[in-house]
Amino acid sequence: MNINKNKFNSVRNTVQARPGQWKYKAKKHLGQNFLKSKEAIKTICDAGKVEKEDIILEIGPGKGVLTEELLKRGAKILAIEKDNDLINFLIEKFESFLPSTPGMDIDTKRLNIINEDILDFDISKYGLLDKKYKIIANIPYNITGAIIKKFLSEIKNKPILMAILVQKEVAERIVAKNRKINKQKTEAVQALPGQSRPCLDSGGKESILSLSVKAYGDPKYIMKVSKKYFSPAPKVDSAIILIDNISDKNFKNNDEEKTFFDLVHAGFSHKRKLFIKNIENLDYQKEKIKKMFEILEIDKKIRAEDIPFYKWIEMKDFLTTKN
Ligand code: SAH
Repeated sequence: MNINKNKFNSVRNTVQARPGQWKYKAKKHLGQNFLKSKEAIKTICDAGKVEKEDIILEIGPGKGVLTEELLKRGAKILAIEKDNDLINFLIEKFESFLPSTPGMDIDTKRLNIINEDILDFDISKYGLLDKKYKIIANIPYNITGAIIKKFLSEIKNKPILMAILVQKEVAERIVAKNRKINKQKTEAVQALPGQSRPCLDSGGKESILSLSVKAYGDPKYIMKVSKKYFSPAPKVDSAIILIDNISDKNFKNNDEEKTFFDLVHAGFSHKRKLFIKNIENLDYQKEKIKKMFEILEIDKKIRAEDIPFYKWIEMKDFLTTKN
């Protein structure tokens, strides 16, 4: 009998394994689609420039396929898994990498497996508050938005980058390409040379999601991963994205951050309405808004989705400067 088989049998009681092989029924409500493609696993790690001694936060390690590659590259990993059943399996699989006392911080050993919900996870408990770390993960898709929100805008010490697998549609929406806008012709935004790659940038339309990501980092579309490379196969294809250079550099203080997000949320509040109508309810004098459109050369007929990221930053700067 080989060692692996013994290992699988020993966890049979807790994970309902069948003799000889570890059969596990994936849990839909936990977004469990396990990755089968070695190439995709390698590409996620390459995109995240994973190197020896890097500190990685892996969300939802599942059966540990990505964790294995991260260990091979010499990284130190905090793997947060919500599913109790998978935790038992992971602990057996990676026994030799684990600290003797569970829950100890990342300095102690190469791998720490934590049975927690990532949305409740407190980075200060595991020594991540004052360290540079990266998020590398095939995340549960049902909480993509919540994960991005938590790690880009809510927590104090943000990761320096995120290389993650998300639904392909979501990836396209996030990377919506920056374009130049022209005061006279809104149509000019439709097709600027070299910037119209509709399959990769969803026609360049911005959204609350794309702007929220760009506010903190540079999103890049890395690679499509077909649904056939997952088990069980999800209904839609996926894609690897990298959110690089994550920082707070666009916001000098909380007021700037709040102004930006208030503007974005108001701007997209009614999809069919023009941007100028949507922001009428914000607490600014009409004169100021009028001046903003003139000085920043924004077309009054533009819709929020056609305004490129850099213009939103210019508007935030205008609105937070005394003038
Ligand atoms: N990374 C693995 C598994 C991806 S499936 C692979 O590529 O094969 C998503 C994983 O996230 C599952 O293991 C699921 O149990 C876990 N998960 C789901 N919701 C979670 C949450 N709120 N916090 C932490 N892990 C979660």
